[in-house]
Amino acid sequence: MSEDLDLDFEPVPGPADKYLSMVLLVDDQMIICEAIRRALAGQPELDFHYCTNPFEAIRIANETKPTVILQDLVMPGMDGIDLVRQYRQNPATQAVPVIVLSAKDEPAVKGEAFNAGANDYLVKLPDRIELIARIRYHTRAYLDHVQRNQAYRALRESQRQLIKANLELERLTRIDGLTSLGNRRYFDEYFNLEWARGRRRQTPVSVLMIDVDNFKRYNDSHGHLAGDEALKRVARVIQDSLTRPTDLAARFGGEEFVAVLINGSEAGVRQVAEHMLQAVRDLEIPHGTGRVTISIGVANALPDERNSAGELLYNADQALFRAKLEGRDRVVFHEAPAPPKE
Ligand code: GH3
Ligand code: MG
Ligand code: MG
Repeated sequence: MSEDLDLDFEPVPGPADKYLSMVLLVDDQMIICEAIRRALAGQPELDFHYCTNPFEAIRIANETKPTVILQDLVMPGMDGIDLVRQYRQNPATQAVPVIVLSAKDEPAVKGEAFNAGANDYLVKLPDRIELIARIRYHTRAYLDHVQRNQAYRALRESQRQLIKANLELERLTRIDGLTSLGNRRYFDEYFNLEWARGRRRQTPVSVLMIDVDNFKRYNDSHGHLAGDEALKRVARVIQDSLTRPTDLAARFGGEEFVAVLINGSEAGVRQVAEHMLQAVRDLEIPHGTGRVTISIGVANALPDERNSAGELLYNADQALFRAKLEGRDRVVFHEAPAPPKE
């Protein structure tokens, strides 16, 4: 409602007569309306509207957007106190200062008016100078309030955008641009954290090192862009082969991927790896006389003081190396060396 209020934000309020007031008087007696109109005439910064039908008061207030409402107490068919309560319920007038104008000078009535949400109370007909001073005072308080709210909202909005930008930036530092999987840096962070957690909880950690077979030849015959597309599709299949929310797939570098599985049984991990292998075959991406395939090296460990995250990764890499040696398009498990014989 305040877009049309064009005041520079000043931490210290300016003089009250520099604020533009829009006064709405709600009083059933035309003679009072006329008297107030005259009292306010000659004040260029005071704009004046009146309403003699209390049942129209809210609608007119919504339209005229007053900075101060002058409210009569006794009107036919409607209690002024009830109207004050309605202003407080109505979003457009919720914070608009209400000065009750009443013929009654009793403290109990005044108390009731303030309790209902009035900001001020004047006995009819008020002195002209006092009325203008109070209208200016309340207008300034109201416009300062509006402006603070606006400034606050603008501040909140810019904070919100900053948080959003930061989150996006953080997300971008974690994902691989080509495949949208986690990147190497994110994998390292995640893997080390999960390793430490596995050690505390004594739960196994498994690593799958995954490498696209003969991918150099794929690029050579289909071009690098087609190679990128193939990598994206393989990455998606790798991601989709993971079943638990704690499993993570990442691009390790080039045409190599890595997956870390937490607390899976050996059989479960084997199943995931075999499924991944088959799902890449099922993509049926033509390659030479066959199709694009992957090789997977798998290693498991129960983290303890004798092994390390780096060792697990190394073991998975060794298993991958064997998968390549043994002809590619297969899963090879790292075999722990047999314990030395007594
Ligand atoms: P191997 O089965 O032994 O893994 O053979 P390979 O040809 O896949 O292995 P090599 O390490 O010799 O070649 C990897 C190829 O992967 C070479 C490189 O051009 C390609 N590559 C790596 N990163 C990208 C990429 O982001 N996009 C594309 N299109 N190709 C990539
Ligand atoms: Mg390769
Ligand atoms: Mg490679």
